[in-house]
Amino acid sequence: MHPVSSAPDVALCPACGASRVRVRAAVAAEVEVGRGPRLEEWTVMAVHLEDGGFDEGATAWCTACGWRGVVADLELALR
Ligand SMILES: [Zn+2]
Repeated sequence: MHPVSSAPDVALCPACGASRVRVRAAVAAEVEVGRGPRLEEWTVMAVHLEDGGFDEGATAWCTACGWRGVVADLELALR
């Protein structure tokens, strides 16, 4: 059983070699709002996420072994 977009099995985590790590990325969101039941309230109708990005200084961590660092520390650093 594989996820829909499976990444190649390349070691990323410098500590345990896991092929997946998490990176803290900033994502801009566009929020569609309308009037809430009370005049001073907004009601969020929809949220559209725009493409996020991260650089080598972004926080990265491994859920497999608990390693924590930055993207530049990963085995497959962004070039
Ligand atoms: Zn790890």
